[in-house]
Amino acid sequence: MTTMQTTLPTADDIRDRVRVALQAIGADVPLGEPGQPGLQASTPITGDVLFTVAENTAEEADAAIAAAAEAFTAWRTTPAPVRGALVARLGELLIEHKADLATLVTVEAGKITSEALGEVQEMIDICQFAVGLSRQLYGKTIASERPGHRLMETWHPLGVVGVITAFNFPVAVWAWNTAVALVCGDTVVWKPSELTPLTAVACQALIERAAHDVGAPGTVSRLIQGGREIGETLVDDPRVALVSATGSVRMGRQVGPRVAARFGKALLELGGNNAAIVTPSADLDLAVRGIVFSAAGTAGQRCTTLRRVIAHRSVVDTVVERVVTAYRSLPVGDPSAEGTLVGPLIHERSYRDMVGALEQAEADGGEVIGGEHCAIGGELGAGAYYVRPAVVRMPAQTAVVHDETFAPIVYVLTYDDLDEAIALNNAVPQGLSSAIFTTDVREAERFMAADGSDCGIANVNIGTSGAEIGGAFGGEKQTGGGRESGSDSWKAYMRRATNTVNYSSELPLAQGVQFG
Ligand code: NAD
Repeated sequence: MTTMQTTLPTADDIRDRVRVALQAIGADVPLGEPGQPGLQASTPITGDVLFTVAENTAEEADAAIAAAAEAFTAWRTTPAPVRGALVARLGELLIEHKADLATLVTVEAGKITSEALGEVQEMIDICQFAVGLSRQLYGKTIASERPGHRLMETWHPLGVVGVITAFNFPVAVWAWNTAVALVCGDTVVWKPSELTPLTAVACQALIERAAHDVGAPGTVSRLIQGGREIGETLVDDPRVALVSATGSVRMGRQVGPRVAARFGKALLELGGNNAAIVTPSADLDLAVRGIVFSAAGTAGQRCTTLRRVIAHRSVVDTVVERVVTAYRSLPVGDPSAEGTLVGPLIHERSYRDMVGALEQAEADGGEVIGGEHCAIGGELGAGAYYVRPAVVRMPAQTAVVHDETFAPIVYVLTYDDLDEAIALNNAVPQGLSSAIFTTDVREAERFMAADGSDCGIANVNIGTSGAEIGGAFGGEKQTGGGRESGSDSWKAYMRRATNTVNYSSELPLAQGVQFG
């Protein structure tokens, strides 16, 4: 099998694909020539700038927030199942335009076609979840200690939700937030990654069309484009009740305290440093497949990417040998070409970070296998960065292993007993995803117990990536503590009121207090 392509599409080919997809979606936005003022929409496939997309000013961001705040005054009292009709229509449009949107995801984020289609499927899934939710926004009734009293909780919309998203899930994370926020009665202002403005334009066209089709105000979901400064308008504006921010820990450190300073709510989905423990009883066929998909998929650019394998001394050599063998046959190249499994890194900085991390790991006594640059379509510096995924055997969990390097590097550590493995799993500052490969039910249960993995996701016999809609997604510690996309995560998008109703003709006080 050939594992490296030697040709890439031309920038003009890619521009044509973008035009066709945007036209099919009905996103009628002016696209400028590269180099004009505005956001430079580029592709990691070739490294070329494709178009210029208009960047919003602070005044325009302010106007978008004002429009969403105004729309909220009517949307909050629209019955939730009626709000659900808008999300249902969005879901239908996503089904219709699944391939078009996936094309744009591949162009801007460099995902292979299957993963790009999977990302759009996740949007469809969250729409369906949210439509069901629109008839299930339950509050509790609680037994009152006072006769003739009813005690209950009601849930109400929050207001404007500011959504800030990362480049690596350019459309799904918007949908996770927007579908749920809209059925909860909130309105949305979205600031996508500056690296993915074209997918954002396409999503905005679809939500506006859905709103038009069901007679909802188009201003319930707004888009503002730009970099960090435009994101900061959402962070600092008191009209934005909740800031849902997805990205690096560095970004979360800036956003979290600023939102807290104005007593706003923040939902943070930040970086991960995910590990899989491979025990002596593990089904190694399964473990190796799980490791390869989680560590090399999306070229190591998922928040849930497997970054550490913690293997028992009795199996570690076999695991490394089999993963390295699998890596050698992974086709690296154009993500839009059939058969490719590993696409490009997003940009040069990611590549430099990967090289730096591998050098540091080697200096720390690590043995690096793979990780070479693949000079597809030109030498380094041509603007596209394709790499072979790397396996690094480490003598210890040094500082470089504690960092999230957003590239396909998996560090392999060795353990002797399960307590040690769990301690290694938990020793990093992030707490997103984790897994154990075992056929021993005691080990599996221990891993998921209170003294087991400290992560928001703890899997058994599957890898760390590829979560499905339905379960709450998110992580602990520096990952930020947010939960999205399933279970009762909708509660983050609403406010709770506790109501005590006295239907008696007496006025008994709680705790038996007598007053006059
Ligand atoms: P990034 O932090 O560079 O940028 C994310 C977004 O935040 C962008 O839209 C950016 O413009 C904005 N931003 C940055 N600083 C800001 C500030 N001070 N105020 C307001 N907005 C600001 O992240 P990235 O490189 O696009 O994405 C990769 C990172 O995202 C990785 O760390 C990855 O683990 C993480 N991620 C986490 C999840 C999750 O659910 N936990 C999902 C996807 C990605």
